[in-house]
Parts: sequence; structure tokens; C-alpha cells
Amino acid sequence: MVEYKYMKNIFTYLNPIKRLGIKKYSILLPTLVTFFFYFISEFYAYNIAKNPLIVGVYIIFVSASLIIYFSFHDGILGGIIASTITILYYAEIMYTRHYRGAQLSAGISTTIVLAIVFYCLAAVIGWLKQTIDGLIVNEGDEKRRLQAIVDQLPVGVLITDAQGKITQGNKKIEEILQTKISQGTSVKDNLIMQSRHDGKIVNPSEAPLVQVLRTRKPIVGKEYVIDRVNGKQTHLQVNASAISNKDGKLIAAASIISDITQQKEMETRKDDFVNMASHELKTPLTSMKIYIDLLTKRIKQSQDNKSIKILKNIENQTEKLQELVNDLLDVSRLQTGKLMFTKEQFRLDALIRETIEGLQEVAKNHKIVFSSNKATSIYADRFRIYQVLTNLLTNAIKYSKNADEIIVSLQRSRGKAIVRVQDFGIGIAKDQQKKIFDRLYQVTDHQEKTFPGLGMGLYISKEIVKRHKGCLWVESEKNKGSTFIFSLPLK
Ligand code: ADP
Repeated sequence: MVEYKYMKNIFTYLNPIKRLGIKKYSILLPTLVTFFFYFISEFYAYNIAKNPLIVGVYIIFVSASLIIYFSFHDGILGGIIASTITILYYAEIMYTRHYRGAQLSAGISTTIVLAIVFYCLAAVIGWLKQTIDGLIVNEGDEKRRLQAIVDQLPVGVLITDAQGKITQGNKKIEEILQTKISQGTSVKDNLIMQSRHDGKIVNPSEAPLVQVLRTRKPIVGKEYVIDRVNGKQTHLQVNASAISNKDGKLIAAASIISDITQQKEMETRKDDFVNMASHELKTPLTSMKIYIDLLTKRIKQSQDNKSIKILKNIENQTEKLQELVNDLLDVSRLQTGKLMFTKEQFRLDALIRETIEGLQEVAKNHKIVFSSNKATSIYADRFRIYQVLTNLLTNAIKYSKNADEIIVSLQRSRGKAIVRVQDFGIGIAKDQQKKIFDRLYQVTDHQEKTFPGLGMGLYISKEIVKRHKGCLWVESEKNKGSTFIFSLPLK
């Protein structure tokens, strides 16, 4: 075993290809080996091959091979040493073989030509070898620099080549995945195999890096859960993208993996708190509403108009509070999957008309126009669809203070009922249009700050529509108005 290793080391030392990138050049090896070869050549010339022509060809062939080898093994210096010893050997041949007259001058001119060829070979091959070494060393330095940066990152980094073999990872990724990442192994054997996404065990072919290598489409913010042996869970967020060279050829894929367990725990605690608080608020609010009704009845008898007005205001404010608490409860029901639907067959056109009539009472500055006469029946939760319509219409009123018209339409298309609520208000910038459907998201600019709200309405509406197998989206232009559209299956 030891012997094998020893042999392997000798082989590596002698193999110029294996030494590429190692900037250590020997002087001793070309000197000793070249001398040794010429010693053997002398022996061969005097004792074995008696034909001077064969000996001459043999010696030139061996010399050229040695010079090429040592230029590649030891750079320019190695080549020059081998060339110099060769030329000295040729001189020694001419001297010991007693060349005279024409033979001497032919010998000298051949030696000069060969010397030029050999030194040129040594210079060119040696220079190439040294340049390649320099490039390899630079690349190595670059890799080390990159590795040092990657190691400092607070997120896990994993990079593969185009075949999905791991080329780089950092300490954080080993910490997150609790496994050693070894270079050269397939990414399929490593990452996120033990994890779940959307409750389903991740198939090796669905691992983020495997996916981006296959589809070349980036993965943004995809979440995974890993069950640990101690019963705890780790939540991960993964971003991954494919890397191509300037010709568009796939060369690698990289992923950034963040441990978002703490963030998730905080969110769960916050949701629990909102859920608890809204439940606790609901009971006293219901009692308050009953007492206000009682008091209103009593005061109405006394015909004290001022008190009646004050009580009306209290009632309105209490109703607003109730709506808010109901929204909070809906949000937490949606979070926990506890929002239930009681579906029935009803006329959507009638519900729209009813909702508009109710709202038109309070929205005195706007005219809500609805002109569909077609009976459109759907099977859905009537109260929840009413909630969606109310939310879209109150938003249309709230965000179009300077306009006075809101247009509602109902159409049927490809087995779907499509409702549009169009206002001519402040509109929504393109980059905000997706985000407004997120939980607790409100557009923040100086114009919007004046509008009250918590950013729950659209989130709830979208979820309700989604759970009826429909879609809710917006078409809008800043300062020109918005159209919120939702579709629901007719059957
Ligand atoms: P809220 O209205 O309570 O803030 P929503 O979830 O209903 O919450 O709306 C989220 C955000 O979307 C709002 O804060 C507002 O910035 C924007 N938005 C909603 N409807 C409209 C609309 N019709 N016109 C302009 N902006 C709107």
C-alpha cells in the first residue's frame, strides 16, 4: 500500500500534465536525466548500433523529445538546460570522433541549426507551460477568495455544475442541512430530499437545483420544511437560478437557502395572538351592540333627538369595529383552514343589485352603475360572495374620492360568471398590483397614507374567490383608476 502510494507520487511528479498549476520547476531533474540519456546514447553508439546514420537520427530524436518534455515539465529553464546539455554533447561528439575539414564544418552548421530549433522549442513550450500555470493559479486564488466570501454569508449557498454535481457549498448550508456537503456528489443525493413542500415529500427530481437545471427558470422564495430527528421542524426558503455563459450555454446552477424557522415561529405567535384577541373582542362587542339597541329604543320614546344622534354615531362606530374584528377572525380562519362555506344556488345579478343598493345609501358622493338584466345563477356561499362585492365596492368608493362614478358589470364567458368593479380613482402602480392581495399589505406612498384600513379586505376576497375555484385580479393605471375583476364557475 505504502509502495503503491510512493509509486503514485513518483508518477505524479514525472507527469507534466499532472503538474500543471504547480509553479515549482526543477533544475536537477533535466540536468541529471539529460546527462543520463546521453551516457546511454554513447553506450548505444559504441556497443550496439554501428551505423553512424542510425545513431545520428536516434540522438536527434531523443534530444528533441527530452527538450520538449523538460520544457513542459520545468518551464523555460528546464528546456534551456536540456538544450544546452544537448548542444554540449553534440560538440563533444565532434571532438571525440575527430571531425575534420568538410565533416567538421557540416557538423558545426548542423549543430547551430539544431541549437536554434531546440532553444526556440524550449522558449515556446516553456512559456506556454508557465502561462498555463499562472492561469491555473489565478483561478485557484479566485476560487479561494470566492469561498471565503461565501463562507461569511449568513445564508446557505450551494453551487453545482451543469450536470448537477456540487462544486461549491458553504459552512452555513452544512449547518442548515445538518449534513456534510462533498464536492462532486450529485445534488440529488443531498439537499432537501428529506423535506416537504406544500405538505408533500420532495421527490429528488423536484429538488430546486435539479429543477432549475432542467427548466432554466429561476425559483424565488419557495418554502420547504424539514422534520428533524428531535421532532422539531426547520423551515427553509430557497432561491435558485441557472447560470449560463455568454453564449447562452448552461454552465452551473446556484441556490441560496435561508433558515426562516424563527421568522415562521414569530408569524405563528402573531397569528395566534390576532386570533385570540379577535375572539376576545367579539363577545364584548356583541353585548355592546345589544345594549346600544336597547338604549336607542328607550331614547326614541323620550324623543331626545340629540341623544338619538349621539347613539347613532356610537352604533356606526361599533359596527365598524365589528367589521374589523370579523375581518381579523376571517384572516385567522383562512390561515388555519377553518373558513367554512355554506353553498347554495342563487342569482348573482340579484346579489350585486342588492349589495349596490345597500352601499348607495351611504355612498352619497358616488353613483354606482350596474346594467345587467341577465339572470345569472351560481352555486356558492352567498354571504361570502356578498363580502367580496362589498369589499371591492367600498374600496372603489374609498380610493376614488375625486371621481363620482363606479361601473359594475356582470358577464358570462366560457362557463364562468365574470364580475367587474371599475372606479376612476387613484389607481395602483404596476409594481404594487400583485402585492395588494397579500395579507396586511397596503400601498405606501404619501397619497395612500390618508386612507384608513388594515390591508385585509383584498386578501380575504381573493382567498374566498380562490376557494370557489375562481380568480380575482386587478387591471389598473396610476391616477386613472382600477378595475377589479373576479370570475366564478357557473356550475
Ligand atoms: P384596505 O383597503 O383596508 O387597506 P385592502 O386589502 O382592501 O385593504 O386593499 C389593499 C390595498 O390595495 C389598499 O391599501 C390600497 O392601497 C389598494 N387598493 C385596493 N383597492 C383599490 C382601488 N380600488 N384603488 C386603488 N387602490 C386600491
